[in-house]
Amino acid sequence: MGVKFDALTMQQAVSQACEIMDSGEKAYVVTPNPEIVWLCRKDESLREIVNAAGLVLPDGIGVILGASVLGTPLCERIAGIDFAEVLFAEMAMVGKSVYLFGAKPGIAEEAGRRLGEKYPSLIIAGTSDGYFDDDTPIIESINAAKADLLLVCLGSPRQERWMAENLDKLDVKLMAGLGGSLDVFAGAVKRAPVFFQRFGLEWLYRLIKQPRRIVRMIKLPLFMFCVIWRRVRGKR
Ligand code: UDP
Repeated sequence: MGVKFDALTMQQAVSQACEIMDSGEKAYVVTPNPEIVWLCRKDESLREIVNAAGLVLPDGIGVILGASVLGTPLCERIAGIDFAEVLFAEMAMVGKSVYLFGAKPGIAEEAGRRLGEKYPSLIIAGTSDGYFDDDTPIIESINAAKADLLLVCLGSPRQERWMAENLDKLDVKLMAGLGGSLDVFAGAVKRAPVFFQRFGLEWLYRLIKQPRRIVRMIKLPLFMFCVIWRRVRGKR
């Protein structure tokens, strides 16, 4: 459907992220769900941004199912927030640093405090909230911090556009667009219980907790319909 996902396991994805950080090549990671794949169908500029990422990881059971139905299976679902946790653990082992950017004022600081407690050897290089008119001072703050990793948590597709637009201006080794992850790291939003995660129902839990997401989630049945249509058409 136009989005080039990387067929990797979680461990392979984290190893590649570490390799990018060590290589000196700047890159960004995106974790599209069916909603973003759907947007990419119509929006060529967004599709180019997503496909230009260093790593394109499938965040959403719909993507895993869709890829399988279309005969191009992926290894496993890699939720952005889980990817960040495994990456933090690796980074902590070698004393690497992360800058947290996004979410409401105070959230990134609290997330940094909690992550610092959980991974004492991970360096929290700085934080900025995601509500701004002018991002020049934020870019200056990020560049002064010289972090290995920058989390950009502005929601999709804004964070993907922001990363692509600012890649050349930023003095970081790797960026990752991770939506509402800082809210979870800060304890402001609860992650779905393990049952929902295990059975690919995290989207349902988020819908129950935030019913206004229904407007966004309407793209999920459209996405699945499109997958099935392509499969049927392909077989014919
Ligand atoms: N956000 C932001 N700046 C904005 C709009 C949103 O930093 O102008 C943050 C918002 O506070 C939240 C995140 O972006 O922390 C989006 O979370 P959501 O769960 O909607 O993202 P998803 O993971 O679904 O893309």
